[in-house]
Amino acid sequence: MTDEKSGGSVLLFEDNLLNMKLAADLLELAGFQVLKAYDGEEGLEILGKKTPDLILLDISLPGIDGLEFFREIRTRSHLNGVKVVAITAQVMKEEESVIRRAGFDGIISKPIDTTQFVKTMKEMLAGR
Ligand code: MN
Repeated sequence: MTDEKSGGSVLLFEDNLLNMKLAADLLELAGFQVLKAYDGEEGLEILGKKTPDLILLDISLPGIDGLEFFREIRTRSHLNGVKVVAITAQVMKEEESVIRRAGFDGIISKPIDTTQFVKTMKEMLAGR
């Protein structure tokens, strides 16, 4: 759903309302279109209709965890070109290596550093 006027589209996958609002506000200010999903069901519904340029996926979600959801996304061939970035509060190195091995395109730690967050998103969407 890339359009010429936007810096790209991001599906934000986050169950915490405040974290969702902060990330969505930052992305919108930076010129991205933002789609929001608060749980797995909602996320799959959106992905059935739209193909964002990037998915920002909270690892800790109610019902389905982010790693499980990521595997689900990767079974859908029409989403092959979509970058998927993990967002996680768990900073343990062990968890980070599990996420990297799963094949995510990047990892962002919570609480997010707002300046770095916007910079990273712009870099990841620059060559879309
Ligand atoms: Mn969460």
